Amino acid sequence: MRMMQSYLSHLECGWCGKTYDFREILNLCPACGKPLLPRYDLDAAKANFTPERLKNRPKSLWRYGEMLPVQGESFRYTLGEGFTPMLPVSRLGKALGLSQLYAKDEGINPTGSFKARGLVMAVSRAAELGVKALAIPSAGNAGSAAAAYGARAGLPVYVYLPQDVPPAFLAEIKALGAEITLVDGLITDCAKLVRQGADEGRWFDLSTLKEPYRVEGKKTMGYEIAEQMGWQLPDVIVYPTGGGTGIVGIWKAFAEMEALGWIGSKRPRMISVQSAGCAPIVRAYEQGVELAEMWQNAATIADGLRVPAAVGDFLILRAVRESGGTALAVSDDEIRAAQIEIGRSEGIFVAPEAAATAAALPHLLAAGKIQADERIVLLITGNGLKYMHLLA
Ligand SMILES: *Cc1c(COP(=O)(O)O)cnc(C)c1O
Ligand SMILES: [Zn+2]
Repeated sequence: MRMMQSYLSHLECGWCGKTYDFREILNLCPACGKPLLPRYDLDAAKANFTPERLKNRPKSLWRYGEMLPVQGESFRYTLGEGFTPMLPVSRLGKALGLSQLYAKDEGINPTGSFKARGLVMAVSRAAELGVKALAIPSAGNAGSAAAAYGARAGLPVYVYLPQDVPPAFLAEIKALGAEITLVDGLITDCAKLVRQGADEGRWFDLSTLKEPYRVEGKKTMGYEIAEQMGWQLPDVIVYPTGGGTGIVGIWKAFAEMEALGWIGSKRPRMISVQSAGCAPIVRAYEQGVELAEMWQNAATIADGLRVPAAVGDFLILRAVRESGGTALAVSDDEIRAAQIEIGRSEGIFVAPEAAATAAALPHLLAAGKIQADERIVLLITGNGLKYMHLLA
């Protein structure tokens, strides 16, 4: 048996439950149009894939290869993504009245954000399935990551961005060899154009949760959080939510790890943070509904959170509700203040999306949604360097 044999067994629709062969090139569920989730033969994996096996493996997300969809060693492209540090941030915690605060610093990933996790997986798997060209709608970071991994895999990448995207993203995407199209509209408008091209056979559509594998890359954050905390999950995880691949992935990872016998049934409370200028998930959570309505006139400095409609809305809301978590919005001013506060108290220059997690903490504490002595992990999803325009 090869060292890391993928136990991928099939794809399953997260909404209608219909199953599909994983050798097919698929986007959304052909039956109902909702996201497809990869499933693994967890019983078979349980005998072979144990935490001890992780010792001496590369410090990248590929260390969890058995629970990843890529079949062939030669398609495990890498730029060194994943296995990011879990940093105690006690000075920041103390200022807020929290005694066990941690930051998982995703900003050190290739192209400066956790989008690298999702895109390395989607691009690798697309290449393995024989896809010849890729396209993606993006607020910036997803486009950069897609461009980087497309280059790594030798595939052309087409990136569709809102025309107000900060210039640093454009420079980066261009330098990484992708073709840029600027769109007069939001990411949802970009997504329509990418879909059109996919329907015309020009490329494969890499949109968030509209293909089955980005979520698999992002779920490795869940495996890492468990491994880095000695298989004792934290009490709370705070996640800045746009399309929601990360929170959906982390929640999926916990279920897989329980089935593998790596952790028990206790789960962290999953807290979804959005910007007050675009908070469709928060509104749906408060209304108690299963699907989120499209947010009108979305506007926020946290570009990655400017997602007015998410196809995985029900999966995000399930993770939040099943975990006993909550969803809340913070203002752009609070995001700016938190960005400065994290920087000067902990030495991490974070993206505004990431700062939203810290901005949420005083609200959560005041509302009794978190306790002072709980183990809380903030997902610092990106580096601040591409957002210099906010600090000038
Ligand atoms: C895209 C992005 C997010 C939101 O991630 P989703 O998986 O779409 O919810 C958060 N932070 C940063 C820095 C991003 O680039
Ligand atoms: Zn379906």
